[in-house]
Parts: sequence; structure tokens; C-alpha cells
Amino acid sequence: MTEIELLIDFHKDAPRQGPGSTADTLKALAFMEVASRKGLKVADIGCGSGAQTIVLAQNLDAKITAIDLFPEFLDKLRVQSMKLGLQEKIVCVQKSMHELAFGKEELDIIWSEGAIYNMGFEHGVCEWKEFLKPGGYMALSEITWLTHSRPKEIELHWSTEYPEIDTASHIMCILEKNGFSPIAYFVFPESCWIENYYLPMEKRFDVFLERHHYHEMAIKIVQAEKDEIRKYKEYKDYFGYGFYIARKIG
Ligand code: SAH
Repeated sequence: MTEIELLIDFHKDAPRQGPGSTADTLKALAFMEVASRKGLKVADIGCGSGAQTIVLAQNLDAKITAIDLFPEFLDKLRVQSMKLGLQEKIVCVQKSMHELAFGKEELDIIWSEGAIYNMGFEHGVCEWKEFLKPGGYMALSEITWLTHSRPKEIELHWSTEYPEIDTASHIMCILEKNGFSPIAYFVFPESCWIENYYLPMEKRFDVFLERHHYHEMAIKIVQAEKDEIRKYKEYKDYFGYGFYIARKIG
């Protein structure tokens, strides 16, 4: 197995592939004036196994195109949406977020939790904007500095992992510069990280290592996750996931 295959194997049975919660997806949704609208067209980009896709489908009159690069995650979403009778509302598409095939100004909402970093925030906003109707919404969660300055260890970690990490004011400025009006910003509470993401992850460590016979690469993956958990616990006052809701001008 390659490292990427191992990573998929590690994450595919998780309730979600990044920090988040049903309550926070609903909170972001509540900022959009869409509750009474019918036949919305929505894209959920980098949907993973679709924890948030299901919430959107249950709360919107919409056709949701759920996009992810990896079929293993989409298979999970497909099964779950059938179980809940949502298969008419959710269409799973295996595709790179770099190569989306929507028409110009086709979508009412672009949703992406914990995934736009794969393109870089500004690049993603610029590329995806053309698919959005004027007046349409983007809802994006993005790793964010919560303070103006921070301890060296965490600064170094993120400047290596994701140099585009920034403060909320700068991220909102990117949205404004690119033709969006920011509607809301809020930070995921600690429970989104610990209870919903890291605790289920910690429970999978041993089974994962056993399944792969303590392969060197599997051990490396578990160590990296443990290190990430430690850094979150130590430095959670300084960084988090910001949720940005913005409306396309026009
Ligand atoms: N939105 C989900 C998953 C977040 S993890 C949640 O919050 O639980 C990021 C997701 O982006 C993963 O599922 C990963 O497979 C997907 N991804 C990574 N690179 C991608 C790309 N180039 N195109 C589409 N999806 C990608």
C-alpha cells in the first residue's frame, strides 16, 4: 500500500474526515436566506464521507453534488444517503476540485468544510466563483490564526504544513477582494475537534496498526496524528477552524 492508500484506509471509517459538527453546519446554513427556496443547486466540495452533505440534504430543498477525489469516501456517503432515503437529493461525483465541470453561474451554494486548503483558499475562491450565481453563497471552513501572534512551535508547524494560514480579518479581505460580501465568521468550538474528530480517531489507532501489521508507514501516520492532537490541545487558543459565509456580489 502507498502512503495515500493507507491514509484513506485510516480515515474512511471515521464519522468525519475533519473537525466539524451538525450544529455548526446548521449554524452556517442559518446565515443564508435560503430556507424557503425550492430546487436549490448546491455543490459540496471535498465532501469526504459526507457528514455535512447529509445535514444539508436534510435541511434544504436541493440537489446536492457531492464531490471528492477518493471513491472510498463517496461509497460511504452513497450507502448513508440510501439508508436515510436521501439518494434523490445527493449525487456523488468523483473528481478533483481543480477540475469541476459546473456551468457558469449554475450554483446557488458552494459548500466546502475542511477541504479548500487542498487548493489554497484564495485559489479555490477564485476558481469556484464563476460557478456561483450572483447573490449565491459560499460556506467555507478554513484553518485560521485566532490571534495576532503565537508561540514559535505552532507558527513553524503551520507555516510548513499550510503557509496560507491567516487571521480571519485577512481571510475576509480575500473574500472581499474577489467579489464577495462576508456575511458571517465563527470559530468551531473545541468539541468539533476533540469529541467529533480526535476521540473517534484515537479509537482507530490500534485496529489500524494491527490491520497493517505495524507497517513502518502506518506507524508514521499514527505518530503524525498523535503529534497533531498534542499540538491542538497545547495551542488551541492560537488556531482553529473558522467558518466563513459570504455572498457573491451582483
Ligand atoms: N468535508 C469533509 C472532509 C474534509 S477532509 C468533512 O469535513 O468531514 C478533506 C477532503 O478533501 C477529503 O475527503 C479528501 O479526500 C478531499 N480532497 C483532497 N484533495 C482533493 C481534490 N483535489 N479534489 C477533491 N477532493 C479532494
